[in-house]
Amino acid sequence: MSTATLSIDLDAIAANWRALDKASASGVQTAAVVKADAYGLGITRVARALAQAGARRFFVAVAEEGATLRQVLGPGPQICILSGHMPGDTDMIGDLDLTPMLNSLDQVTRHLESLPGQAFGVQLDTGMNRLGMEEPEWEAIAPFVLEAGPELLMSHLACADDPDHGLNETQLATFLAMTNGTGVPRSLAATGGILLGPKYHFDLTRPGIGLYGGRPYEAARPAVTLSLPVIQTRAVAPGEAVGYSCAWIAEAPSTVATLSAGYADGLPRSLSNNAVLWDGDTPCPLIGRVSMDLITVDISHLPQIPRYLDIIGPNQSADDLADIAGTIGYEILTGLSSRYTRRYYEGTA
Ligand SMILES: *Cc1c(COP(=O)(O)O)cnc(C)c1O
Repeated sequence: MSTATLSIDLDAIAANWRALDKASASGVQTAAVVKADAYGLGITRVARALAQAGARRFFVAVAEEGATLRQVLGPGPQICILSGHMPGDTDMIGDLDLTPMLNSLDQVTRHLESLPGQAFGVQLDTGMNRLGMEEPEWEAIAPFVLEAGPELLMSHLACADDPDHGLNETQLATFLAMTNGTGVPRSLAATGGILLGPKYHFDLTRPGIGLYGGRPYEAARPAVTLSLPVIQTRAVAPGEAVGYSCAWIAEAPSTVATLSAGYADGLPRSLSNNAVLWDGDTPCPLIGRVSMDLITVDISHLPQIPRYLDIIGPNQSADDLADIAGTIGYEILTGLSSRYTRRYYEGTA
């Protein structure tokens, strides 16, 4: 088998959820964000582990993800749809008991007309200018919408990963102004917002990346190891080149390993000549260009040929890899290939 192995520690994910739950007061509910196939780790096993840990409310981006999640979780847990109620979503929302976060007057009208009595929340824009109703629009329709009984009023912070950013306080003040006195449960914080402290917590928090071991939750337990099998090794003489465009040329007699994974698997091409893989605790430089399905690694200094090398693991997190590639951990995780064999570990704590 030459597909790489993505090992996912479900105990670590459950422990991260519990720790983030403990980071807010006991009256604050902690949801779990499992959009994009649980940040690339596999929604089926991850959502089940989170439900077992105690999560009762889940957020996904689109209704189709909600439909998948309902099959996984069965009836009971609340499944919230961040993109709201789009044309074509009505049957899924109604039949599978999904809870859309309505983003506009259009969506409010669609929802209340097509599924009267079906649960919904409202997403408010407090300064990110991405999703949700802005202040004037909300002011105009709030009395009518509140009459219909939303389950949640929510908004999202644009700069929560930077505690010193002025927009955090501004968004908080706007959120308070838009929701005070409504009596409806409120939610503002994702992972970064939880770490900003209690005044950002309201009634419900929505952590995603922190559950999976990513920044800005530095205290997270790592949850992911990605091991790439060595397909072939060869001796390369000084002056010989390796890979596309001869981007690496041997200066000394070298042993080069060819590993199974490339940019088609979510390893950014910007890692070319610029990253390390790990044989246990020994770093091995990635040499030459990242190809579609393969990378090449200098293993000249290893005493024996390894069966695989880790590109994410104890010595290099998804965030570390992202730093090298010039991106963020979120993008590395959600780009993890469907070709990888996902192995889940639990009950080992
Ligand atoms: C993705 C997302 C979250 C989770 O954010 P993390 O930074 O991964 O914790 C929460 N709320 C909304 C609206 C989101 O889009």
